[in-house]
Amino acid sequence: MKNLYFSLILLFTAIMAYAQNKPWRAGEMELKVHFNTSQDAKVLGSLNLNTDIYQQYAYAYVVPSELDIIREKGFNFEILKPDLNTWSASFGEAMVPQGYYTFTEIKNIADSLASVYPSICKKIIIGQSASFQELAVLKISDNVNDDENEPEILFDGGIHGDEVGSSQNIIMFARDICRDYGTDEAITNLINNREIWLYYCVNPWGRDNMSRYNSNGIDVNRDFGYMWGYEGGSMSPFSQPESKTLRNLQLDNQFVVYTNYHSGTEIISYPWSNRVTIAPDKAAFNSMAQVYSLSSGYTTLPYGQGALVMYLIQGSTKDFNYGCLGSVAWSIEISTDKQPAGNLIRHYYEVNKPAMLSLIEHSGYGIQGTITDAITGLPVAAAIFEGNNYPSYTDPAVGDFHRYLIPDTYTLKVVANGYEPKTITGVTVYNQQCTTVDIQLQPISCQYAYRTITSHIPNFDGYQPGDEGYSAACTGPPDQVSYSIGKGGYVVVDMLDTIYDTSGPDVIVYEGDYSPEGYSIYAGTTPDGPWINLGSGSGTASFNMGTYSVQQARYFKIVDDNNGSANVNDAGFEFDAIASLHPAIPDTVGHLAGVLYDGISGLPIQSGLIASGDSTCITDIDGHYYLTLPYGENIVYAVAENFGPDFDTLTLLPAQLSNHDFHLYPNVGIVHSSSEQEAALWPNPSSGLVHISFKTGLPQHISVKLVDNLGKVITVIADSDFPAGTNTLCLNPDDVNRKILPGFYTLIIDGSGYHKCLKMIISN
Ligand SMILES: [Zn+2]
Repeated sequence: MKNLYFSLILLFTAIMAYAQNKPWRAGEMELKVHFNTSQDAKVLGSLNLNTDIYQQYAYAYVVPSELDIIREKGFNFEILKPDLNTWSASFGEAMVPQGYYTFTEIKNIADSLASVYPSICKKIIIGQSASFQELAVLKISDNVNDDENEPEILFDGGIHGDEVGSSQNIIMFARDICRDYGTDEAITNLINNREIWLYYCVNPWGRDNMSRYNSNGIDVNRDFGYMWGYEGGSMSPFSQPESKTLRNLQLDNQFVVYTNYHSGTEIISYPWSNRVTIAPDKAAFNSMAQVYSLSSGYTTLPYGQGALVMYLIQGSTKDFNYGCLGSVAWSIEISTDKQPAGNLIRHYYEVNKPAMLSLIEHSGYGIQGTITDAITGLPVAAAIFEGNNYPSYTDPAVGDFHRYLIPDTYTLKVVANGYEPKTITGVTVYNQQCTTVDIQLQPISCQYAYRTITSHIPNFDGYQPGDEGYSAACTGPPDQVSYSIGKGGYVVVDMLDTIYDTSGPDVIVYEGDYSPEGYSIYAGTTPDGPWINLGSGSGTASFNMGTYSVQQARYFKIVDDNNGSANVNDAGFEFDAIASLHPAIPDTVGHLAGVLYDGISGLPIQSGLIASGDSTCITDIDGHYYLTLPYGENIVYAVAENFGPDFDTLTLLPAQLSNHDFHLYPNVGIVHSSSEQEAALWPNPSSGLVHISFKTGLPQHISVKLVDNLGKVITVIADSDFPAGTNTLCLNPDDVNRKILPGFYTLIIDGSGYHKCLKMIISN
């Protein structure tokens, strides 16, 4: 009873907290600010208000005290919605303009698509919003339950809940392509050859309440970790369930293209939004944006760098998906009105639909390939740098990577924990094609930062020239290319695999120049902490997790000591690399065990031989065998007296036990000795030279023939008289006349009154 009472109180508190949240701040209004000069946007932006700033005008979301600031600055503005809470309430129970789906209706369509088209459409619940609503994404692809070697592409909508067209478009698109699979050839091809992810509503509470914010009053599109900066009410990077959920979707999948839909103008806005410095992949962004723009139904749909065609913002989803994960990432603003009239819903959908299909097609152009372990052939989690650009990543389940690049010749660098880095030069990409580069990596013992998750430079001035945001410089091995974390700034890196505390120092942080600067290092098991301080360092220094009772860590946060000047190039600590001092040593062997059976009777065969290379095992009374072999592919032979041999190609995983049973079938074509004399053959398998010992000495004249598995005589090894008392023969089948191919053979030994068959394996 006590527990129930407690739960009721909790539930009541949760409902109260939820009910108290109004969609907008008290007295918040929507303004349209018109710019008289090009300087106006910069001034408005510097006020740090909630705004969407375009080139000619801005939408501003302000409370009365903020309105006073705008008035004081002399802006030319009109008040579009004098009280946003009243305006939201005017939509009644549905809370969306007439003709639009509610979040529940969108969710119901998603559920019905997943149930009607289960072979191509899967709904995956990926999280829960701050308002406890389901966050889910539709994956549309053939073999939808498998992770295939296919380019992945993500569209999301509704991050700003009051921009109602985007979620609407995405769910209509999902419905159309599911329906047209199998009848529309182009759509069928795309579903068969791509993995299409449709995240139909990033911020359900925002849609349910006609609000820009989530239920905590935070602008989710300012809450992302790459070059994050206290905007939109966000007090720390990835502070909201909505942003963590989208981030995890981006980290877990490798999107070639990521589209974050909005409205308020009509434009494609690609990275950077946090700074005016040009992104190294600008040419690829322009090329892909042109594809969308030209295949859309817009009369014109301009595109450009967010910081230039719109305004500087920090903490956007697109800058994260490009800056940390290397995707072509952007926001697309699909209508000037944030809530176009219901009779325009179909219009905006139809102008965007062909562009979405084109984008999905083009996500398969550029480069692709698989990155695998050179020994096992298993997929590798790896970063792919094109030159020194922002890296993209493989899908660790399949090892495939896909990156959109414009036609040119490129140098690829592949970096992975546990492997030697590899550079591939002269990779040529052709127009509207995809160049395949499959790469094998050699295992070595090493572990560095795999990717960055969060970066923050206090009071970052995006108008400063130079690139202060190259956080990827601190991933991979030390190379004197470093990321300046900014005065008082920080960065969070992901080591991919957990580091465990062992005796002595566990990690080493490398500074990339020769003037040591101070910093602190924190360890965490999640990208969001909690963070445990491992002390501070100056320049390159190592740290012992055990000193601070930290048993394991996967994420590290490096925080600048806040000394020195912020207004210089490369302010703050020059973070070159972080390495585990006890990286896991790659396991080089695998283990194989099983039973040797008589394929007819099903009984185990005792004293059979299981062999591969130099490893052999004689089966015990229950037919069991056990072998330790190099990991990767091994050809394993099974032989037993009176049975035909067998062999299989088996792939062993490092340090793992694999099971494999062999089934042998009794010989029918070979006549066995009736003599009491016994013979033994060694080594077996052999790469050539073999010895045959006879228990009672040889007959004077014997012939030895090597016969293959089909009974064909391959060669006559011996046909001669031997001195009396000889009981061992040394034979080299290779000496006779030709190289014998690896495989199973029978040595047939005949002498006066003597006939013996011996199974023999010739290995490489
Ligand atoms: Zn928006």
